[in-house]
Amino acid sequence: MRNQQQASADNAIVIGGGVVGLCCALELQRRGLRTTIVVPADDRAAASWGNAGHIAVEQVEPLASRATVLSFPRRLFWRGGPVSLPLGQISAWLPFALRLLGSTGTRRFERGKAALTTLLEPALPAWRRTLADAGAADLLLEDGHFVVWESQASAAAGRAHWISADTGTTTIRDATADELARIAALTRQPLAGGIRFDGSGQIADLPELGRALRARFAALDGAWHSGKVSSLSVADGAARLVCDDGTAMTAGAILVAAGAASGGLMAGVGTAVPIIHERGYHIQAASSAWPATMPPVVFEDRAMIVTRFRSGLRAASFVEFGGPHARPDPRKWERLAQHAEALGLPFDAAPSRWTGARPTLPDYLPAIGRSTAADNLFYAFGHQHLGLTLAAVTGELAGALITGAAPAVALAPFDLTRFRR
Ligand SMILES: Cc1cc2nc3c(=O)[nH]c(=O)nc-3n(C[C@H](O)[C@H](O)[C@H](O)COP(=O)(O)OP(=O)(O)OC[C@H]3O[C@@H](n4cnc5c(N)ncnc54)[C@H](O)[C@@H]3O)c2cc1C
Repeated sequence: MRNQQQASADNAIVIGGGVVGLCCALELQRRGLRTTIVVPADDRAAASWGNAGHIAVEQVEPLASRATVLSFPRRLFWRGGPVSLPLGQISAWLPFALRLLGSTGTRRFERGKAALTTLLEPALPAWRRTLADAGAADLLLEDGHFVVWESQASAAAGRAHWISADTGTTTIRDATADELARIAALTRQPLAGGIRFDGSGQIADLPELGRALRARFAALDGAWHSGKVSSLSVADGAARLVCDDGTAMTAGAILVAAGAASGGLMAGVGTAVPIIHERGYHIQAASSAWPATMPPVVFEDRAMIVTRFRSGLRAASFVEFGGPHARPDPRKWERLAQHAEALGLPFDAAPSRWTGARPTLPDYLPAIGRSTAADNLFYAFGHQHLGLTLAAVTGELAGALITGAAPAVALAPFDLTRFRR
């Protein structure tokens, strides 16, 4: 085993190079800690690069709600919906589902909503700061998004739902006739209605985002170690890690930001984390037939979001609960292609296919805090459907916490000790 790095007051290690890890590492480096990101060479499965690109600050109501759970039976995959609970993965999703049920009571839901609101309110300003600092302000598009429906009944129900929902800092209005006509011109199916959100946003391109954040980190003299952390442990009161190439490392601060894999790492220090791999799927085409100025469009009847990135058009959907080793289900890509075909969306005959896991905790709140297992161990993971939205603000909060400054948001609701109760 090679000892590559020792602890000192001014160094840090971030495990994970997804968007959350990158934003945290950038902030630590900016705050004067010599920071090393440990990430495997092949990072294509990270949710950060396969997501829908939506800065979803409207989603202040946690998905751990009675309404979500009650909707599951009619939203199952075999009934045409997005939800899968594969039988072969029951040992992963059953304990999660029981904890999820326990998080849906009115008081827990209201507390969760209040907590999520405190993170989502500063999320867009944090992205403005992070991207301006990285010289990539143009990657943040603040042009809202659309939700559209294909039947009168779903339009009436969907509009009623959204109008009664708390949507945080965003506002909703009916899409104008012109806006609907613009979307309708891109689809074969007639649209029965739609709403426009103002105050939400989009990242213009995810590969470009990754490049911009990495370039800024490098310009600030941040360091990388290419490898997978194979064990995280505590010795003499301090956390240390070993990579799959045999390198042993420790630092004044170690931050676990490994997305859905974070649960396995935290188990190494004796902390059981009820995280699940909530897998999503996308197809993508290098299509230019979809206007670059069109904000993301949610086809709500199909539970599908269509996003025009600079690098292509992407359709994303599905929530499939399971463990880390579940195999991809090709029927999900086929379903996405069928939706695209039914709507007449401009996807090629053979769009690229991707699947990856959202890191989800049963109360649908992220975990951001300091570990009780070792003084030098911190965590930032579990951002479920909102990791892109929340990455920049998470970076700022983790940076403050680790350097002993006061985080701008109270972190108690996001502490992992909440799962001990
Ligand atoms: C289909 C889909 C659509 C989505 N759409 C949106 C959206 O529109 N808006 C939004 O806000 N969110 C969206 N999300 C959620 C969002 O993508 C995630 O919450 C977010 O990417 C999580 O980021 P992360 O950095 O925590 O994890 P990840 O992106 O999964 O990154 C984890 C990192 O840890 C590394 N890692 C893992 N194990 C190890 C190890 N042992 N050693 C070292 N490194 C390790 C990985 O290689 C990777 O670099 C979507 C997710 C999916 C699947």
